[in-house]
Amino acid sequence: MSAMPISDFTYDHPDRDVAAFKRSVATKLIYAVGKDPVAASQDDWLHATAMAVRDQLVERWMATTRAQYDQKLKRVYYLSMEFLIGRVFTNALLALELQDTVKEALADFGVDIQALAEREPDAALGNGGLGRLAACFLDSMATLGVPGMGYGIRYEYGMFRQQIVDGQQVEAPDYWLTRGNPWEFQRPEVTYRVRFGGHVQRLEGRNASHDAARWVDTHDVLAMAYDTIIPGYGTQSTQTLRLWSARATEEIDLSAFNRGNYMEAVERKNHSENVSRVLYPDDSTASGRELRLHQEYFFVSASMQDMLRRHLRNHSDFDTLPTQISIHLNDTHPVLAIPELMRLLIDDHGLTWDTAWSHTQKVFSYTNHTLMHEALETWPVEVLGRVLPRHLQILFEINSRFLHSVAQAHSHDVELMRRVSLIDEAGERRVRMAYVAVLASHSVNGVSELHSELMKQSIFADFARLYPERFNNKTNGVTPRRWLALANPALSALLDSRIGRGWRRDLSQLEALRPMAQQPAFVRAFRHAKRENKLRLANWIEQHLGIVVDTDALFDVQVKRMHEYKRQLLNVLHVVTRYQRILDAPQAQHVPRVVVFGGKAASAYRMAKLVVRLINDVAQVVNNDTRVGPLLKVVFVPNYNVSLAEIIMPAADLSEQISTAGTEASGTGNMKFALNGALTIGTLDGANVEMRDSVGKENFFIFGKTTPEVAEIRAGGYEPRAIYEADPALRRALDAIRDGVFSATEPTRYQEIYDALVNWGDQYLLLADYASYIQTQEQVDALYRQPDAWARMAILNVAGMGGFSSDRTIAQYAHEIWHTRPVRLS
Ligand SMILES: *Cc1c(COP(=O)(O)O)cnc(C)c1O
Repeated sequence: MSAMPISDFTYDHPDRDVAAFKRSVATKLIYAVGKDPVAASQDDWLHATAMAVRDQLVERWMATTRAQYDQKLKRVYYLSMEFLIGRVFTNALLALELQDTVKEALADFGVDIQALAEREPDAALGNGGLGRLAACFLDSMATLGVPGMGYGIRYEYGMFRQQIVDGQQVEAPDYWLTRGNPWEFQRPEVTYRVRFGGHVQRLEGRNASHDAARWVDTHDVLAMAYDTIIPGYGTQSTQTLRLWSARATEEIDLSAFNRGNYMEAVERKNHSENVSRVLYPDDSTASGRELRLHQEYFFVSASMQDMLRRHLRNHSDFDTLPTQISIHLNDTHPVLAIPELMRLLIDDHGLTWDTAWSHTQKVFSYTNHTLMHEALETWPVEVLGRVLPRHLQILFEINSRFLHSVAQAHSHDVELMRRVSLIDEAGERRVRMAYVAVLASHSVNGVSELHSELMKQSIFADFARLYPERFNNKTNGVTPRRWLALANPALSALLDSRIGRGWRRDLSQLEALRPMAQQPAFVRAFRHAKRENKLRLANWIEQHLGIVVDTDALFDVQVKRMHEYKRQLLNVLHVVTRYQRILDAPQAQHVPRVVVFGGKAASAYRMAKLVVRLINDVAQVVNNDTRVGPLLKVVFVPNYNVSLAEIIMPAADLSEQISTAGTEASGTGNMKFALNGALTIGTLDGANVEMRDSVGKENFFIFGKTTPEVAEIRAGGYEPRAIYEADPALRRALDAIRDGVFSATEPTRYQEIYDALVNWGDQYLLLADYASYIQTQEQVDALYRQPDAWARMAILNVAGMGGFSSDRTIAQYAHEIWHTRPVRLS
């Protein structure tokens, strides 16, 4: 490190008053952005302001890192393919409590802070819930002072941008880095070589450990680090998000260049750098799979090398590794970190197999996020052997030792051995990544109580019998900073005035709201805040989509990834039924509703895209039917992302959480809605169950079959056609969809949807739940007719959400899985 005595080191400490901040922004604009203020664009101002704000974070960041080393704390490394962090600017202002200062400073330059904030692109480095969970976790780790780092990929193109053209989803690239990213620090000196392909040589000779091997003739890619500071709230402590970007090992191929073939000269470079180009807009299809494997290994190899380098800077050997680091696997995408750690310890650092394996099992822990068979990751042995031959060897060795121990303990129960093998031998041989994770981890957790139970009964049943002590639950949570303080200024101000500001760091304080549900003045103020949020969304919808909605109407919202199991189509069936009822009796007392949908469909997921189209087609017909008027509006919000969620969630009256029981691992959208004062209509699925218990079942609209009932129906030969034939309302809705009522120019457009439900087995039991859903929607309407009763119930929902902070979740991970202590900062 530097030889300069720290006492000689002086710099301009950034002050926090308005005048100092103006100076700081002006200095950045001129010297860092290089713009004359008279010519500066909004983006220049944003860049300059972001850098001035970032300066304030840097000191905290360095203090945190220094304290972590001084206190010799165990560090947690959170490995995730996705971090859906959204905008950084407003969150940094909140954490620094600089909102008013910066607003005033910018106003003096004639710059509007809100307009600036809205120009920041979302860092959309994730698909949905899994990536957003990782972002909430970083926020909570920073706030609680959990020492460590998040590791992921700096995708050049984030999640695709969804456009709706003629009612259909069209994917456009999301080039979020076009204008540069003022929040990241490029670290060219933190670059690692990641190898692919080649073959393995066994080491021979006297000194060679018999476990070690040499991996040679590889194609290499470099991984370069970019760091982003994640600020904690109400603390000096911060977290680091380190994202890897691919670089070619050689800039250009000089021999090709000298031959005058420029294209060929850069081709290799482009090929190498493709590794960090795109985030796959899908967690469950075969397209581009091999590149996805490259991505997974690319980021875990760089991360593991980085961790071991850091460890060796402070320790002379690896004996202390298990007490110094914890590595958490966010789903199976980073599971290759397991054989990679084994490889590094054995081949590069000379440890024996047994020592390396013992360390590995102590440091790794794993979170499962899905039970659905098609989403469980497996890699063909053939592909792994080609791309990562040494890792395949290590996986085979792990498996052979494991099966040997199973055979010994279970008197050669061949059936059991076949079931638990890390290799699926049926058909093309494949490595079961989830099994690798379970076997190599000391902790395996699900993300809600229901999901954690089902996990032990279904996909990991054998492992739960072999290693019962490994399995546990950590119910998901969401950060109250982004999802209440930032997203909902109206409700936040009301809470501050009645229960104080402490809920931002201790969400259980919301409990104090419970008695206020009986205070008319509070109920009035609560309704007022909701109206303000509905107005904000209504304005957005009118400005961006040209649809005028009535803010007195019930805002009924379903925003989440488009997926059959999430059953947006069941919601559509309700909308169609509602439409038909209005047409039957236009003069009757219908409760006016605005039904809002939003969510992206994976580009290769035909059925999900067809549902997007159906929603847009239904919206087109309903919204333009003068007989309906303001009684029903249907809105599809394109390009659902974190920033839109921040506008949509606080405006919702009703939150749709209607997945088939047993399919949604937890959900986190459900939590954000309830925290913002929406009532939930939902199935007994994922965390809905615990939310209902927490807010009281009389304050929650539960409908539909339970998980055991779903299993029973499926086992007993489910006949959706019989349900269709017996229920006239259902039949009428489905027939309208089938017959082209919403697709007059192409009447057969939705035949396939009809068939999937009525004739092809209705995989997610929409028809089995339809009647119960409709009936429960009627109860929702009845309550909405009594606005104060509705508001009281909504208040009780907010009051009961204290347990669903990601701070609670992370505190549990830290105590029960990672065994870390928080950093102490003066
Ligand atoms: C919270 C969130 C999700 C997850 O929503 P679920 O309803 O739990 O599936 C997905 N996308 C974004 C942008 C979110 O903020």
